[in-house]
Amino acid sequence: MTINIIKYERDHKKIEELLDEIYHAPTMELKDTFNKKFYPYLKDYLAFNETLKTMVSKAFQMLVMDVDGYITFINEDFCQQLGYQQEELLHHHYRILHAGVHHNDFYEKMWYTIRSGEVWRGDICTATKQGEMFWFRTCVIPTPDPNGQFTTFIVFRTDISDVKHDDKRLIEALDDDYRKVFSQLMNLTFRVHRHKANGSYHFRMFEGKLADKLMDKLNGQGKEAVENIFFTDKVAEVTRYFNQAFEGEEMHFKHHFHGLSLYTVLSPIYEHNDVIEVVGSSINITSLEKAEARVRQLAYFDTLTQLPNRTKFREDLKQAVLNGEKVPFAVLYCDIDRLKYINDTLGEPIGDQVIDIISNRLSQFVKQRGVLYRYGGDEFSLIIHDSHPSIHDLSEQMLLAIKQPIAIQGNEFFVTSSIGISYYGEDAFSDDELINHASIAVHYCKVNGRNSRLFYTPKMNKMYNDILLLEADIRKALQRNEFELYYQPQLNVLTGEVTGLEALIRWDHPLKGAISPATFIPLAEESGIITQIGAWVIREACHQHVRWVEAGHDPIRIAVNVSAIELQRFDFAEQIKQIIAETRMDPSYLEIEITENSVMQNTEDCIKTMHTLKQMGISLSIDDFGTGYSSFGYLKKFPIHFLKIDQSFIRNALVEPSSLEIVKAMIQLAHTFGLKVVAEGVEEEQVLKLLQDYQCDYYQGYYYSRPLPATELEAILYPA
Ligand code: C2E
Ligand code: CA
Ligand code: CA
Repeated sequence: MTINIIKYERDHKKIEELLDEIYHAPTMELKDTFNKKFYPYLKDYLAFNETLKTMVSKAFQMLVMDVDGYITFINEDFCQQLGYQQEELLHHHYRILHAGVHHNDFYEKMWYTIRSGEVWRGDICTATKQGEMFWFRTCVIPTPDPNGQFTTFIVFRTDISDVKHDDKRLIEALDDDYRKVFSQLMNLTFRVHRHKANGSYHFRMFEGKLADKLMDKLNGQGKEAVENIFFTDKVAEVTRYFNQAFEGEEMHFKHHFHGLSLYTVLSPIYEHNDVIEVVGSSINITSLEKAEARVRQLAYFDTLTQLPNRTKFREDLKQAVLNGEKVPFAVLYCDIDRLKYINDTLGEPIGDQVIDIISNRLSQFVKQRGVLYRYGGDEFSLIIHDSHPSIHDLSEQMLLAIKQPIAIQGNEFFVTSSIGISYYGEDAFSDDELINHASIAVHYCKVNGRNSRLFYTPKMNKMYNDILLLEADIRKALQRNEFELYYQPQLNVLTGEVTGLEALIRWDHPLKGAISPATFIPLAEESGIITQIGAWVIREACHQHVRWVEAGHDPIRIAVNVSAIELQRFDFAEQIKQIIAETRMDPSYLEIEITENSVMQNTEDCIKTMHTLKQMGISLSIDDFGTGYSSFGYLKKFPIHFLKIDQSFIRNALVEPSSLEIVKAMIQLAHTFGLKVVAEGVEEEQVLKLLQDYQCDYYQGYYYSRPLPATELEAILYPA
């Protein structure tokens, strides 16, 4: 803002004009005008004619400095205004008049300008002898000596303190206007000064709708307490931002105050290279942060279990690999066995509850040493920072926890799980490799009987590939008729009479030869093709029975093995009915073997199916009894006829007293429930003797016969 404050002495036209000319001349021309027109008057300034002196003195305060800044002339008016006697200033350095307002830079620039022969103009604050301050609009004109060197500097000054006051008033008025505008804005706008001595901050302005909201939260502490808004959360950090802003950097940061999230920008305001204040603006990002958190929650967390999801697992795993050298860890894949069938048969809401319960059980093992993630449908993954042996124990405990009974809506469920583990630095080095190896290990568990946990080993890799190939081959085997049924006789323990047969599937692979059902049945279950294989087995067994009957032999009971997945199909009984109708077999000679675990997985529906089968005249037996989790109590609920004691007890009965006791107890209890007992895996006569002593009903095993193809069996059953 340029305000012309010069008052002229109107009587002395010429000088007035000249001075006017000098004062208003553009900087470029000023020196010329001065040197050519005015300087001749001043040439011998000590010999000023009185009139001129008066004129000049009235219009300006004037002083003359030498090249070093010492005052060589100062007019009386000026001295008076400054409260000095002329001799108190003459031959003193002009510094004596400094008010301490301007920085050294300011004077250095002025000297640089005038020493190079240019006119300098600006506003200077000067102190009187009494310490009062006056603002002068100042013009310093360098004048050359005879050698053309600038050694004399004539300083004209005009008191503009009024103007400065006006300026101040204007600024205050403007401030007031701004304040009004700012107060209507949503954001908070503020100005901060820093106390030079103690570095404390003084908030000069604090406006905007957000300001009101923040002030409310100060509980009436008033404007003096506004700094609390910035300096209560993350104090050290926020102080650093303010300090940096005062160093001249634009800063932005987030912080919290009474539950509000604020985003603040600090902009330094300069005056002559110095940051004189910092202007700040804050916005309320509380709802934005909430929305962000929600988006994050959706992107990184599973809505059912609230566990972090697969995306989060992937990201965390990358990070874990980076720190893997320092903090060793393992990746665990935990797959709930056959959850799919709970979903298919009982519906997803029940399946979801099972998942939720299992996630709670698993979480308890993780705590400080790692994180549990919901990887997908029935899969969980874990990153656990612990030693190899600890993870060994931990995974064992997890298996146990998962298979505890689950009660939902009055039903009790049992699920098992398979856990595959890969250890960073031992089994794998990259995130992809860790995931890949853990998932190979989990697949390996699944096809090797489930309910187990395994650390990855390189040989699994090859086996895993073989498994994948084998899966494809199983599908082809059905079409190419590569399956065959063998039959193993079941005999009366006391009489030795053959009372039944168990049909056992055989696969003659065109390249690999005979493949055990223990190998391919779990694969077929995993891929779902078991239902087609199962239907084939039952149809084939029924056909065989009918063929023997039609050949004139006495009908004999045939037992077929049915896997849990088949039994849990809602149309299982219906399917059997169709096969019976189609083959015209007498259903009272058909027996269905199911393992106790398969019943336990879905008790209510399975029991219903079992009742339907029983009504059709079919007999039912529980296979591999003693290896599952059910108690005898359950047996009451099942409409079964036979209990098949698992061969592990029978085989150990001779060497292990505990097994013998178990066998004895099982037989007794089964009898109290009115069930017939079948002992499997009888290989020796001594075992048969024991079974006779304990009044076991039936037995089967290599002692009498291995499973045989139908034609070979005929030779034994129906000798010519
Ligand atoms: P499982 O139902 O417990 O069948 C008995 C297994 O023990 C048969 O093995 C049989 O050959 C074997 N075995 C019989 N007597 C003895 C003995 O004295 N000593 C020894 N060491 N073993 C004996 P296999 O045929 O290899 O079948 C293995 C398993 O595969 C079966 O166990 C059954 O769970 C499953 N499986 C076999 N055929 C079928 C089928 O058609 N459908 C389904 N779903 N599973 C089947
Ligand atoms: Ca069986
Ligand atoms: Ca068995």
